[in-house]
Amino acid sequence: MYTMRQWSARHARGLKHSYEWLERSLVKLYPYFQRMGLSKVEQPLMKFVEQPTKRFLFDSQSCGQCTLGSTGMSCPMNCPKTIRNGPCGGVRANGKCEVKPEMDCVWVVAWQGTQQLRTEQQALHILQPALDWRLKGKSAWLRAAEQRIREMKS
Ligand code: SF4
Repeated sequence: MYTMRQWSARHARGLKHSYEWLERSLVKLYPYFQRMGLSKVEQPLMKFVEQPTKRFLFDSQSCGQCTLGSTGMSCPMNCPKTIRNGPCGGVRANGKCEVKPEMDCVWVVAWQGTQQLRTEQQALHILQPALDWRLKGKSAWLRAAEQRIREMKS
């Protein structure tokens, strides 16, 4: 929902804190998930929690490679060109999208969202890799928890 998308960018800071709490919880629960079988956990986690939550807040397309933490809670998959390192050259002078003039460019919204994060404004300059379509529909939350565990061990 477009209105919620805008709201989420305006409340990027609070949402980032909430996500950090969630990630800490997932890291603690991860050993239990492993015992249960990650594939068994991933499907219900996606279907009943992650997908509906992100769909409602961000119009997420569940690409499985979430960039919300570095794009001010503005999902780049809502860009009509699905540009992951934007904006394109066509963004209008009033900040509206070239393709859909009725909506704000997702990268303008991303910039506004990162202003809320203060310490993370540079994150918008991180070069995002091309989308790996094999991960579409997979849990980005579980992958982020795995990544955090790897970082803690190294
Ligand atoms: S103006 Fe922004 S949202 Fe529209 S196509 Fe270009 S980068 Fe995507």
